[in-house]
Amino acid sequence: MALCKDVVENIMGYVEAELDDKTLEELEKHLDECPECQAFVRTYRRMLELTGKLGERTFVSPDVRKRLKEFLKSKLKS
Ligand SMILES: [Zn+2]
Repeated sequence: MALCKDVVENIMGYVEAELDDKTLEELEKHLDECPECQAFVRTYRRMLELTGKLGERTFVSPDVRKRLKEFLKSKLKS
């Protein structure tokens, strides 16, 4: 069973459709019943759209990925 933190940890793979079937299935099950994570995914997608870089791999350097993850984690907690 996926938890909110699993959604946060896998958000990149989720929106980029890079997760394996099992992880994806568990996250989607969680998303179905967690409005917070639904909002989180929407916010994340919007951020990517705003930067206009969705699908452009170069945007997600390991450094950016790390900072984005930390930002989103703090956002989810508040
Ligand atoms: Zn959740």
